[in-house]
Amino acid sequence: MSYQLNEKLRDLTPYDPIEGSFSIRLDANEAYFNLNDELAEVISVAANEVALNRYPDPYARVVCQKFAALYGLNPELVTAGNGSDELISIILAGFLQKGDKVLTLTPDFSMYRFYAEIYEAIPTTYSKEQGMEGVLAALEKTGAKAVIFSNPCNPSGTGFSKDEVLKLVTGTDALVILDEAYMDFWDQSLLDCVGKYDNLIILKTCSKALGMAAIRLGFAVCPEVITKAIRAVKSPYNVNSLTQSVGAALLSDVERIHHRIDALIESRNALFASIKPLEASPVIQSVPETVTNFIVIYTEYAAQIHQALLKKGIAVRKFPAFLRITAGTPAENEAFVTAFREIIKELEGR
Ligand SMILES: *Cc1c(COP(=O)(O)O)cnc(C)c1O
Repeated sequence: MSYQLNEKLRDLTPYDPIEGSFSIRLDANEAYFNLNDELAEVISVAANEVALNRYPDPYARVVCQKFAALYGLNPELVTAGNGSDELISIILAGFLQKGDKVLTLTPDFSMYRFYAEIYEAIPTTYSKEQGMEGVLAALEKTGAKAVIFSNPCNPSGTGFSKDEVLKLVTGTDALVILDEAYMDFWDQSLLDCVGKYDNLIILKTCSKALGMAAIRLGFAVCPEVITKAIRAVKSPYNVNSLTQSVGAALLSDVERIHHRIDALIESRNALFASIKPLEASPVIQSVPETVTNFIVIYTEYAAQIHQALLKKGIAVRKFPAFLRITAGTPAENEAFVTAFREIIKELEGR
């Protein structure tokens, strides 16, 4: 006898964001500042307040209140997750039944499709290029029970306006799962609309603009009925006490958070300004405007440039038709720009 993995697991491989260690990491859209440098005392006090022998608060009430205060929301509509990744998993597991269709868009964050498939829903993919009218038509045509997408978009760096997304929310009975992981860098959030529509879920993460990827903390903001369902379907102690306590302390620091976001946007603008002129090179197709903390460089040479950057100790994210570069510290940006210029000069000379 021998045990056989089922079909959906057989060909899966563990997630590996990057192999090897690199001195400059601009590949994962994290904030470049390390909070411990500024806030070591606040963090250690918060960690010390935790009763390690006790289970966490299953509703993570304090950290949900701090998050709600930061964004001007009703805390009753906020549920915390072990990263927004876990919330994506919980929501797709709970709100879809086996065989249900779910609409994903392209390009987009790969985890949506991944979880949908694990839960035996059927993801169908539609291009973002046709806009929200097209998405509505695709929902109707496929009979999908839900649509999930990031806005602004990871990996393209572009976004749909608030009005466009509202058209979608009001034009369908399907569940709209809107991932606003990067909305802190733009001003088209629908957070103030949650509760007005019975089919709108918004996901937020502390991993990007807020600089806390390590503690794994994300939030789902949903109407009451959906909030209750998510709380019922999640595992009871999904967010550990250290994360709740440290997260609550860090989220209280509203002024500092806004300062840091401004600094990230400034870094993005500086990086964009140095790379944009390289559109003149025959090696580069385009460097479009972005509303996130990363820039996107369309080039046929993505694979070669990616490899050459790794050799110089710089990690960026490679896609088939483009590279995605997270804005870093001024020094990291400068090192990237210098290396990138050298590499494309060499490619031009071939
Ligand atoms: C990074 C990212 C996430 C993951 O957030 P975590 O809270 O770290 O799990 C979710 N959605 C998008 C679009 C992202 O880019």
